[in-house]
Amino acid sequence: MERFNNKKILLSFLLAIPFFFGGFIPNETMMPAFRMKKIVLDAGHGGKDPGNLGSKSKEKDINLAVTLLVGKYIKENMPDVEVIYTREDDSFPTVYERPKIANVNKADLFVSIHSNAAANKSAFGTETFVMGTKHFEANFDIVKKENSVILLEENYEENYEGFDPTSPESYMMFNLMSKAYIENSLTLADHIETQFRDRVGRKSRGVKQGPFYVLWTPSMPSVLVELGFLSNTEEEKFLMSQEGKEYMASAIFRSIKAYKEQVEIN
Ligand SMILES: [Zn+2]
Repeated sequence: MERFNNKKILLSFLLAIPFFFGGFIPNETMMPAFRMKKIVLDAGHGGKDPGNLGSKSKEKDINLAVTLLVGKYIKENMPDVEVIYTREDDSFPTVYERPKIANVNKADLFVSIHSNAAANKSAFGTETFVMGTKHFEANFDIVKKENSVILLEENYEENYEGFDPTSPESYMMFNLMSKAYIENSLTLADHIETQFRDRVGRKSRGVKQGPFYVLWTPSMPSVLVELGFLSNTEEEKFLMSQEGKEYMASAIFRSIKAYKEQVEIN
């Protein structure tokens, strides 16, 4: 009989919990939903650093034109998203400053836009990188090339605390990037490469990982887009054309829009 009473007391206590804690039991609907409010767009290189050189073009100019178009499309179509550029002209923000602009502004996303080149003139196609060290040795040439811009900067030793772009051991620090941000970065990178391939008809060389210093944004997802090879005559011609730039920029814009919708649901 006593046991029965205990059970009854316990039962009424359990039933009463929702009344005591009514509005205070945390649930998913009470968590503020994630909103992508701020994006940093980074046109690679600039100023004294031209980046890769095509026969008629400089990487820094192609990167800037496409980046400004991506920003324009975002501003026109996603008024709730603030766009911050690391450069809007032919200036030279350091590789150290670029992700810092994103980190200081507490941005939700960082997109760095570049153009490729290779000794093999027949190489062409797009590729999108996320921060990572997995199999990066295979891409070490491009990783080293992009990171070596650092050596053009004054106070390089001071700002990068001993980071040596030419030494593979230096890249171990990048393993600290959060897994969740890498997954979100991969989601965006997949959208971008799919858009380039299916909507613009480019050859996609795929989504890859690389420890690019400029992607060092430990508090947000980040990607580095390579629009194509300036060393390839056909691809250079396409990227130099206004139509080519608009196609590439709108593909990146649509990817960001799809990414935003996806992460805001989850
Ligand atoms: Zn570049």
